[in-house]
Amino acid sequence: MPIVPIHGSRGDKLDLSLIAGYIPVEVYHAQIEDKAVVTEKDKIESPISIGVSACLLGHKVRYDGGHKHDRYITDILGEFFRFVSICPEVEAGLGIPRETSDLHGSPEAPRMIGNESDTDFTAKIKRYSGKRVREDDVQTINGFVFKRNSPSCGMERVKVFQESGRPIRTGRGIFADTLMKKYPLLPVEDEKRLRDRRIRENFITRVLAHRRMRIAFKGRFSYRKLAMFHAAHKCMLLAHSRKHYELLENMIADSQHLTVAGIRDKYFALFMEALKIKTTMAKNVSVLRQILTSMEGGLDSEERDGILLLIENYRRGGVPLSLTVRLIRNYVTKLKVEHILYQTYLNPHPIEVVLEDSAESLEGLFR
Ligand code: SF4
Repeated sequence: MPIVPIHGSRGDKLDLSLIAGYIPVEVYHAQIEDKAVVTEKDKIESPISIGVSACLLGHKVRYDGGHKHDRYITDILGEFFRFVSICPEVEAGLGIPRETSDLHGSPEAPRMIGNESDTDFTAKIKRYSGKRVREDDVQTINGFVFKRNSPSCGMERVKVFQESGRPIRTGRGIFADTLMKKYPLLPVEDEKRLRDRRIRENFITRVLAHRRMRIAFKGRFSYRKLAMFHAAHKCMLLAHSRKHYELLENMIADSQHLTVAGIRDKYFALFMEALKIKTTMAKNVSVLRQILTSMEGGLDSEERDGILLLIENYRRGGVPLSLTVRLIRNYVTKLKVEHILYQTYLNPHPIEVVLEDSAESLEGLFR
């Protein structure tokens, strides 16, 4: 089956109606109105769901009836995302208050044992987890923030006690493990890792990409849709990993030799892996220069020098990336460089803009 040429690299025009099918509605809002906040109307029109361990939302579900309220999650992410709150232990019927538990045995298949009664809760938590991850609200989430170190919710480095009585820190909570195996492409983080600015920005990027992927391929999958999706993400992929971009490009070019299911699964696994690699200033500068090259025919020398100066200011740390991108996008819009205009890189979600613009003040939340 013939595929659409990639993002007009040979001067071809993109089918914008196809692009419009997978650029989320808030991108248009942000682009048209140039706003950096999401209104109530936006949230209602396009809620983005993420799952969160219930105690992080301030729910009193811990073993002692307490919570682990995380203000970054509720006050910042809560402005943009709709939460699916889950406490596996309470929902599986362990009650509040309850005895504490730990993982024991093999890190690959640990058992969850009560610390006072020696009760084995493994089957109960596993049965609940297997059922919960299949429910409708969980199927709509685009990411999950887990509570660190929990034998149910910890996503990595959870203590697994050995016969010697000593723990090794290579385990994963039983609910987290079930969810991550069921949805291997789902972006996941824990509340401690989100204290690192680059990790939280990367998490948001992956959550939004996961959602775009879902929207784009909601209906029937086609090679054409995939090529358009890939085209719109060119700059974003290059800002994360040129190597992955090239592998994906080759995969698309060879797509006729793969089955629909084969290309879809391979593409998205590699796509999400690419976005896990963090962007750097150097990679962003390279992408911004590439965008400038795409516009050069339509710019006079003064405009070109202005953009070069802007990129240089960004490189020196004088201007944030979000502002640089916004200013460059104005030129792209004015010149109607269509294959660049609809790049997801040039159309950040308002939460990405807000997080970058207020990165310094957000640090206060983690002290
Ligand atoms: S860590 Fe998970 S299981 Fe424990 S209280 Fe929080 S939500 Fe419930």
